[in-house]
Amino acid sequence: MRRGIRLAAALLGLGCRVSAAEQGDAGAAPDPTAQARLRMVRDQVEARGVHDPRVLAAMRKVPRHELVPVSERDHAYDDRPLPIGEGQTISQPYVVAAMTEALELKGDERVLEVGTGSGYQAAVLAELSQQVYSIEIVPALAERARKDLARLGYANVEVRQGDGWRGWPEHAPFDAIVVTAAPNEVPPELIEQLAVGGRLVIPVGRFDQELVRIRKTAEGISREVLFGVRFVPMRGEAEK
Ligand code: SAH
Repeated sequence: MRRGIRLAAALLGLGCRVSAAEQGDAGAAPDPTAQARLRMVRDQVEARGVHDPRVLAAMRKVPRHELVPVSERDHAYDDRPLPIGEGQTISQPYVVAAMTEALELKGDERVLEVGTGSGYQAAVLAELSQQVYSIEIVPALAERARKDLARLGYANVEVRQGDGWRGWPEHAPFDAIVVTAAPNEVPPELIEQLAVGGRLVIPVGRFDQELVRIRKTAEGISREVLFGVRFVPMRGEAEK
């Protein structure tokens, strides 16, 4: 049912035009990637119901094409995940937007990401929070994301190579945690490392995965299912 509404909304969005205001300064040099990002946000993200203005602004800003392999650059703003090497993928833009919106970031948070991959979601998070800590299990991906994020000037992202199943206790507690690889159950230590008032957004399951949001309050833990998703399985300790 929900998927039906989203799809209908996406189709309706296709007919829209980008307004002059959205195109920015008429005197500025035309930047084709900026135009591609405006279209991506309008047709893929807003049309499917992501409305947080800060998330939309971040997605219009972060140069996704700079974080995908050179061979995939022409597809950087397509409505789908893309291969990033080592058998891994960068998530579809809409999924990044919806997961980020679900974290309810206001700007002063310390955020943990498990599954750095390309570094794209880390860059979006860095635009919206104070400090991002991101863990990637594949050494070559961690190394590349670290370099790319530094090159793009993201000084508030720290990338570590390792297994994110047990989080990053040295920097806990986190106001928000996002996981972009799916375990079969929520890692208990990620809940532990959540600050009171914090949100954890995580895909859970083997085949039919659900995107779950867990909130920690003074009263305890609440759990909501947001929508169905398909992520790569979480590796390492999650597989035991
Ligand atoms: N957020 C990423 C999406 C990457 S896909 C982006 O914006 O590009 C998921 C990533 O999780 C992969 O790079 C995979 O190697 C990594 N991963 C899988 N299991 C992990 C684990 N236990 N700890 C840390 N990273 C893990």
